[in-house]
Amino acid sequence: MGGIFGVVSKKECVLDVFFGTDYHSHLGTRRAGMAMYGDRGFDRAIHNIQNSPFRTKFERDVTEFNGNIGIGCISDYEPQPLLIQSHLGSYGITTVCKINNMDELIAEAYNVGRTQFLEMSGGNINPTELVATLINQKDTIAEGIQYALERVDGSLTLLVMTDKGIYAGRDLYGRTPLMIGKKEDEAYCVAFESFSYINLGYKDEKELGPGEIVYITADGYETLRPAQDIMKICTFLWIYYGYPTSTYEGVNVEAMRYNCGKALAIRDKSSWADDVKPDLVAGVPDSGTAHAIGYANESGIPFSRPFIKYTPTWPRSFMPTDQNQRNLIARMKLIPVDRLIRGKSLLLIDDSIVRGTQLRETTEFLYNSGAGEVHIRPACPPLLHGCKFLNFSRSNSEYDLITRRVIREREGENVSDEILKDYADPDSMNYKEMVDEIKKQLNFTSLRFHRLDDMVESVGLPKERLCTYCWDKQGDCHKCASCNGC
Ligand code: SF4
Repeated sequence: MGGIFGVVSKKECVLDVFFGTDYHSHLGTRRAGMAMYGDRGFDRAIHNIQNSPFRTKFERDVTEFNGNIGIGCISDYEPQPLLIQSHLGSYGITTVCKINNMDELIAEAYNVGRTQFLEMSGGNINPTELVATLINQKDTIAEGIQYALERVDGSLTLLVMTDKGIYAGRDLYGRTPLMIGKKEDEAYCVAFESFSYINLGYKDEKELGPGEIVYITADGYETLRPAQDIMKICTFLWIYYGYPTSTYEGVNVEAMRYNCGKALAIRDKSSWADDVKPDLVAGVPDSGTAHAIGYANESGIPFSRPFIKYTPTWPRSFMPTDQNQRNLIARMKLIPVDRLIRGKSLLLIDDSIVRGTQLRETTEFLYNSGAGEVHIRPACPPLLHGCKFLNFSRSNSEYDLITRRVIREREGENVSDEILKDYADPDSMNYKEMVDEIKKQLNFTSLRFHRLDDMVESVGLPKERLCTYCWDKQGDCHKCASCNGC
């Protein structure tokens, strides 16, 4: 994924950019960057943050930077922000994007006279540089941003910083969010995460709509391109990767997660036999915790922490690319509390089930620690499709998903969309049998997924405003001329 943050101020604002960017650290684990416009013109620093956090890596830069305008990012992939010089002047640019049509856009850039791109290690072109190339094909930065938003297949939200202000553009379908905050008569900021500016003294000013482009200075902001009607904001923002204190489209993440837990508890209430009611409800730390609180509040079953993350030496989510190492790290972080596990029936909530490997290991670990029963309640429906809109490294192939492996075992290769649709329907026989098979393979006492209709209700926005592609393949807009928000 990734997160972006920017400030335009009447005063020095290096620390605001530093802390505001730092508050996006949960959105990426690889690289981070800051760029300021100050006495020396544009200044920039980029660091690898895989083994130490943003604040540690940028401590020195902060003492050397100065300026009243700045942008920063946390990036899971390419180094950014980039400083660009073109016929549009000098600017800094940072993005949250996934570009599926890179090859097509690169070929077009060569056709219109672009002679080179810098190559990153591994031979790939930096997607943020490609976005800058799209912008530079137009006569103004605003026109260029609009062109980039329209041409990128995938998603793109970005900030472009000049020596006078910041242009902010939200993804054409609003898959990722962007908020403007205001600090009295002194400054404006713009952020992916709305909570990131609260402690810096900014208040919510405006949420950009899908495809909206805004130009921000220290005196105010103006909309250069209005929002379009169709929105497909990522539902996974609320389920998993958004920070609990953030609010998107008026819906707070923590509150939505309580709603998920509540809906799961309501579905369970009618089906628990008296003798199998769990002794306690727990969330897989930390992404299942809020959902579990919602479940406990509704069901009356006490919330507990039967295992606790050892945080002092695991301050960040260090994510090696090797899956076995990732599983090992996930296991090493969790310490069991014997008194809360031995002989107990546990109901455990995780945000989702992807491969199932980690949750199976966690369940084994609970059985080995003396648990009698482990009931699993994922806070979202079964994931059936990979995400093609965000750089969200959940799986490399659809067969990484346990659902698709089970369906392949039942249906063979090349399953039609029609059949997959049936597996996505919580009232179908295929769905019930798939869930039963997952329960058996992962050795859970019982398994009930959050239903798609309940999840949409937990968000509280109309379904057509949400991307639910990874569950039911809905929300895949193609930018067609006669768009009906498919
Ligand atoms: S496919 Fe899933 S993860 Fe990707 S944008 Fe849509 S809801 Fe979000």
